[in-house]
Amino acid sequence: MTTNKTFDVAVVGAGVFGAWTAYQLSRARAEVVLVDAYGPGNSRASSGGESRMIRMGYGPDQIYTRMAQRSLGLWQELFDHIGPTGISPRLFHPTGILWLARENDPYCEATLETLQQCHVGYERLDRAELFRRYPQLELGSPGSPTVQRRWGGGGQPGWGGTITWGILEPNSGVLMARQAVQAVVAQARARGVTYLEEATLPLDSDVDADSSRSRLDSLHMVSGREIFANEFVFACGPWLPKIFPALLAQLIHATRQEVFFFGVPAGDASGDSRFGPERMPAWIDFSDLVYGIPNLDNRGFKIAIDAHGPQFDPDTGDRIVSIDSLAAVRAYLARRMPVLAKAVVTETRVCQYENTSNGDFLIDRHPAFENVWLVGGGSGHGFKHGPAVGEHVAALISGDAKVEPRFALATKEKVQQRKVY
Ligand SMILES: Cc1cc2nc3c(=O)[nH]c(=O)nc-3n(C[C@H](O)[C@H](O)[C@H](O)COP(=O)(O)OP(=O)(O)OC[C@H]3O[C@@H](n4cnc5c(N)ncnc54)[C@H](O)[C@@H]3O)c2cc1C
Repeated sequence: MTTNKTFDVAVVGAGVFGAWTAYQLSRARAEVVLVDAYGPGNSRASSGGESRMIRMGYGPDQIYTRMAQRSLGLWQELFDHIGPTGISPRLFHPTGILWLARENDPYCEATLETLQQCHVGYERLDRAELFRRYPQLELGSPGSPTVQRRWGGGGQPGWGGTITWGILEPNSGVLMARQAVQAVVAQARARGVTYLEEATLPLDSDVDADSSRSRLDSLHMVSGREIFANEFVFACGPWLPKIFPALLAQLIHATRQEVFFFGVPAGDASGDSRFGPERMPAWIDFSDLVYGIPNLDNRGFKIAIDAHGPQFDPDTGDRIVSIDSLAAVRAYLARRMPVLAKAVVTETRVCQYENTSNGDFLIDRHPAFENVWLVGGGSGHGFKHGPAVGEHVAALISGDAKVEPRFALATKEKVQQRKVY
C-alpha cells in the first residue's frame, strides 16, 4: 500500500531512543511517523525489560553525567504530566543508587569527582555507615581475598574482596522501562505522531567513499507499504547492523545478557522490607560488574551481571537463561547477600546490549544519505538517556546542534574495548 503523504520525519524503532525522538520532534511541531516491527518496549527490544537504572555516576565521563541529569528532569516532567498509570503507578522509583567501592577504586573515585563537578547530590558513606544502613549487604571482612571472577570483561580484576566505602546518589533511581517507553509513545501519539506496527526492509547501504551523499525518499516496508518523509531516523538498537549490514555489522555488536529475579522472604514484600525500595537502593558493584534492583512492584529482587555475554541475534536468539549463569549469580549472592543465596527464582529474562567499540553512543548522519540519521549503540547504559538523546536528534535534524564527536560514526572502531559503563 502506498500513500502520497510525505511526513517531515519517519522514525524507525520505538525503543527508548526512537520513542523519545518522535516525542521531542512532535514537541517541535514536526509531522512524524513512528514505526516499529514488534511494538514499543517489546520483549525482544533492549528497552523491553522490567526496569532500568538511572544513575548520574559515570566514572570520568562527564558527558554522560550531564545527559543523565538532563534526562532525569525530562522523565520526571513527562511522568508528572501523565500522572499515575496502569500496573505500576510510578514509572520512576527514587530508590537512590548506591555505588559499592573498594580501597584504591579509580572508577568510583572518578565518579565522586564527576558528581562534585556536575553538582549532583551525593553522600560518601564509610564502611561503618554502609553496615548500619544496609545490613542486608555482606561487605566482606577486612583483608578478605579477591578471587578470579567467573565472568570476564572490563571493570577491575578480581572478585569479592572488601567493600570499604560507597557513594549514594539519593535522587537517582529506577525507571519502569517497558511501561515508560509505552507511555512515551502514547504521549507522542496524543501529540499527533502517527504510529504504525510495521517492519522496514534493510537498506542497501554499501557506501562508496568517493560518492557524494544522496537523499532517501521513502521506506519500503515488509508489508509492501511505502512511507515517504523528508528525514529518516533509524533508532533500531541491536537491529541496526541488520538494516545497514555493510556499514554497521562490524561496528555494533549485540551481546546476550541475562537477568534474574529472586523471590524475597515471605512477609518481606512491603512496608519496611529489607529488599524493598524503602530500605534498599539500587546498587552497583562496579569492580565485580554486578548490579541489583530492589523488589519493585513485587516482581522480586533483580540482579544481573554487566559483563558482555556471547553474540546474540535479537530476532531469533533463544531467551532462556543458562544454568551456569544462575550458578554464578547464586555464588555472588552467597558472598554479598547471603539471605537470598538460595532464594527461589521468580523470573528470568534474556536481553541484549547493542555495543559500540567503547560504549559511546552512535548518533550521526548516514555517510551515503544526507537525510538519514543513525541513532543507537546504547551499549548497556542507554535507557536513562532516552530524553536527552531524543532532544539531541531533534536538534540535529533542525540544524540547531552539531554531531558530538564521541557519538560520530567516524569514532567507532571494530575492536571491542569497553571504556564507558
Ligand atoms: C539487561 C539489560 C539491562 C540494562 N540496564 C540498563 C540500565 O540499568 N540503565 C540504562 O540506562 N540502560 C540499561 N540498559 C541499556 C538500555 O536498555 C538500552 O541501551 C536501550 O534500551 C536501547 O534502546 P534503543 O531504543 O536503542 O533500542 P531498542 O529498545 O532495542 O529499540 C529498537 C526498536 O527497533 C525496532 N526495530 C528493529 N528493526 C526494525 C525494523 N526493521 N523495522 C521497524 N522497527 C524495527 C525493534 O522492534 C525495537 O522496538 C540495559 C540493557 C539490557 C539489555
